Parts: sequence; C-alpha cells; structure tokens
Amino acid sequence: MKNLYIVITLLFLTVTVSAQDTYLHCGKLIDTQNGKILQGKTIVISGEKIKEVLDGYASAKNSEDKVIDLKDKTVMPGLIDMHVHIEGETNPNRYLEPFTLNDADIAYNAQEIAQRTLMAGFTTVRDLGGSGVNVSLRNAINAGKVTGPRIYTAEKALASTGGHADPTNGYSKELMGDPGPKEGVVNSVDDARKAVRQRYKNGADWIKITATGGVLSVAKNGQNPQFTEEEIKAITTTAADYGMQVAAHAHGDEGMQRAIKNGVKTIEHGTLMSEETMDLMKKYDTYYVPTLSAGKYVAEKAKIDGYYPKVIVPKALAIGPQLQKTFAKAYKKGVLIAFGTDAGVFPHGENAKEFGYMVEAGMPAMESIQSATTTSAKLLGAAESLGQIASGFMADIVALDADPTQDIATMNEIPFVMKNGVVYKNE
Ligand SMILES: [Zn+2]
Repeated sequence: MKNLYIVITLLFLTVTVSAQDTYLHCGKLIDTQNGKILQGKTIVISGEKIKEVLDGYASAKNSEDKVIDLKDKTVMPGLIDMHVHIEGETNPNRYLEPFTLNDADIAYNAQEIAQRTLMAGFTTVRDLGGSGVNVSLRNAINAGKVTGPRIYTAEKALASTGGHADPTNGYSKELMGDPGPKEGVVNSVDDARKAVRQRYKNGADWIKITATGGVLSVAKNGQNPQFTEEEIKAITTTAADYGMQVAAHAHGDEGMQRAIKNGVKTIEHGTLMSEETMDLMKKYDTYYVPTLSAGKYVAEKAKIDGYYPKVIVPKALAIGPQLQKTFAKAYKKGVLIAFGTDAGVFPHGENAKEFGYMVEAGMPAMESIQSATTTSAKLLGAAESLGQIASGFMADIVALDADPTQDIATMNEIPFVMKNGVVYKNE
C-alpha cells in the first residue's frame, strides 16, 4: 500500500513537472530578423517562452499538449509601441481631468486601456509619461493582476518651468504653485540630476524629457528649445548611472540638436527636423519615433470648435500635417526609425493605424513591421527576448487574417494575441 502511494505521488509529480506545451500551426510566419515570410511552420511554446520553431505542422508530443490551428493566418511577433500614454485618453474634457480625477479613477481607466492595447496586438509598450499610476499599472500587469502589455515606463516626463510637461501649465496662479524636480520640473543642472534620481526612486524604466514646446500643452510655443545643453547632459549622464536611457519629445530643430548632441536615445515626433539634424541622428545612432497617428489626429480634431483650448488650435493645425512629410524624408535619408504612435493623444487600441501612415509615406510594409518588432526590441535592450519568433524568446505572438506585406490594413484587426505564452484572444 505504501509503495502504491509512492508510485501515485511520483506520477502526479511527473505530470505537474512536465508542463503542457502549446503548438501553433502557422500558415505563414514572419521572420522579422531577416525580413522574410516563411511558409508552414510550428511554434512550440513551453511556459512563457518559445521552445523551438519547427518546419511543417508538427504533432504534439504529449496528450496534454495543446494545438492551435493558425494555418490560414500570418503569424508574427507581438507588436511594440515605443510611445504611448497608457494612463489616459483624449476627450473634450481632458484639460479638466487634473481637477476631477483621483489616482484610483486614473488606475481603473488605465487598466481598461491596457487591456484594449493588448487586444490590438501590442504586447509591449513604452509609456512616455503620466502621473505615476503607470508604475503601479506596470507592476500589477507583471504580477498577473491586470491584463495588459509589458510596460516600460518613464513615470512622469521632465520639463522646465512652463515647458511642455510642466504639470501646472494653464492653471490660475493660485493653483500653479512652483513645481520642482520632485514633480518633474527642472531649472538647473542640479535640478536635472535630482529629477532623474527621483524618477529612479519612483520606479521609472526610462527618462522622458520635453526638449521643445509641444502641441497639446496650454502654452503658446510648440517648438522652442526648453532645456539648456548642460541640463540635458546632466539628465542623460545621470540616467546612464542608473541604467536608464532618455527619450526626447521635440518638434523644433534647435531643441532636437541639443538633445541629440547630449546623449538622448530617441527623438519623439521630430516634426521640424532639418536635413542637418537627420545627419546628426545618423552620426549619434539616435532613433526617430515618428508618431504620425498623433499628427493626423490632432490636425483633424483642431477643426472641431472647442475640442482643444484655443491656444492649442494653431499649433495642432501647423504641426500635424508636417509630421508625415518629415518622416518620409528621414526614412529616405536612412535615419533609424522605431515604431511609436503617441496613443492617448488618439484612442488607444488604434495604434496599428501607424503602419498604414508609414507605408503611405514610402516605407515598405516589412520595414514598418520590423520597426515595431526587432528595432524597438533592440532599443529597449531586449533584442534577445522580444521582437522575434525564435527559440528562447518570450512567447509574444499575434496572428493576422492576411499577409500584411500584401495589405498593411490587415494590421488593424488582429484576431489572435498571445503574451508570455498565454492566449488572450483567439477569434
Ligand atoms: Zn507623447
């Protein structure tokens, strides 16, 4: 009797230890590393990682393994958006929200946004600024308490007084106060260091600065430089001490050049980028994150009376349409391009529209896909775990109804989403 008990215990242990594998039978598979489309492959997933990729449709080895038929689909790695604001979303009352929402409200909204983002096929995002709820959201997703993409977050963006990310722009003087490094506002080299260290303490993964004015802040200038070179240098070197890289929001050329020369890793928007600045980006290996979706959306909404505060309207009308032209030039010139949308400025979940805008401006569909997979993974320091379907990579996988290199619009409806080996969507 005792022996039988041991045998049963051992059997039970064997079953629980040899976890169930998942087999994905893929009609087409996009090899993002080499920019090729492969036919008839099986992806074997064990736990949260890809175990191997086999030729043909391999049958499962164990009876408890699961086979998923994606033979009529085009399968590719989960998408990466390098520029989102996961905490909130455009709406006509957006500018009142600092006075009406509590952190708990932001958090409940954000968990729904996170879920919507994942269902659109974006398994990883870089969040470039919010109130700090973004850090809690990242942690809750990592702990499996909330459904959403893997998040790298900048926590709160850094600005100078009155700059694009000064949190009290447009407030009455009584409410304005004098925010400092703790709130992300910097006016000296010392402030710059303090602000970066504070972000580290608060749990940020990246640092975001607003190197120039911006469209959606309640301020007149959308493109002037807003940091000194010394301040930017202090930010990038301090960030490096803490293992972080710096993203710079920039529309105007002077602010971009200061940021590039002083060590930022990505230029966001880059609207009025000159050819000289494009060359500078190539020289410094700085990546361009175009956010064409945001440009299109704000230019359209600025035509609706009252959607934005009045001071924003002329900026949105001028900067919006320029973005795609700049992107087309930068692509032709060979600037490194990573995929980013600025989701939150437009409704989350529509991130994939960016692919269409990139292709429309002259980038081949395969390259736009690589910008959202291998290129972005590399920028995140995750080139060995994200952005590819290969042995040892995280099992972040999406499937499409058609081949997106034939029709890029197919990216807008993604019927199958897996993240960390878990199927979240299979329609
Ligand atoms: Zn943004």
